[in-house]
Amino acid sequence: MTIWFATGNSHKRAELSGILPGHIIKIPADKGIPFDPDETGATFGENALIKARELRRLVLASGCGSQDPVIADDSGLCVDALDGRPGIYSARYGSIEGGKKLSDRDRNALLLQELQSRSELGDNPRRQARFVCAMVLLFSEDRFYLVQETLEGELVREERGTGGFGYDPILYLPQLGRTVAELTAEEKNQISHRGKAGKAIAKLLADG
Ligand code: IMP
Repeated sequence: MTIWFATGNSHKRAELSGILPGHIIKIPADKGIPFDPDETGATFGENALIKARELRRLVLASGCGSQDPVIADDSGLCVDALDGRPGIYSARYGSIEGGKKLSDRDRNALLLQELQSRSELGDNPRRQARFVCAMVLLFSEDRFYLVQETLEGELVREERGTGGFGYDPILYLPQLGRTVAELTAEEKNQISHRGKAGKAIAKLLADG
């Protein structure tokens, strides 16, 4: 089945292709469709639905694939000691409004620095954190499924590993003794927030 995925992030597309084998995953850029919706929701779920509805509208307007389902996800890193931040603002953490986004490396360094420099958190702040992924499978404007999954871990003191993307090098998985960036793509998909949400969506797709 052809499925539209509401993202401009090539890492996320590669992950979803691994999670949903046997399906053709198209992203807006494949058809030259500009896609940059305002993520005005207050939760991961609301933002995922905004992205899914917007992509469906654009696909219908472009005349290609009117019957194809749309998948959208909204994801991020929630740090307990920072009251869940950066959360839905993970992609924009550390960027100045309207300005250039930080590189992944600089953003990771800034987050670890913030955790360490907040004096009210003490010398040894709690390091529990999790990736969250809300994923929407949209068949039509008012017919959709929403699932949300997590990957629990702890923030490292220094980033480790070169795989994956984004905050992967700073989320350590105590049960595996590795950061997410030290996993293979297959290992990450088995346990990740996006992998688990995608597997739930795969079952819903199979049921139609
Ligand atoms: P989104 O594209 O609005 O969902 O932004 C998600 C942001 O959260 C990304 O740009 C990353 O910074 C971060 N993020 C989400 N999922 C992951 C992941 O699997 N690994 C590392 N960072 C992630």
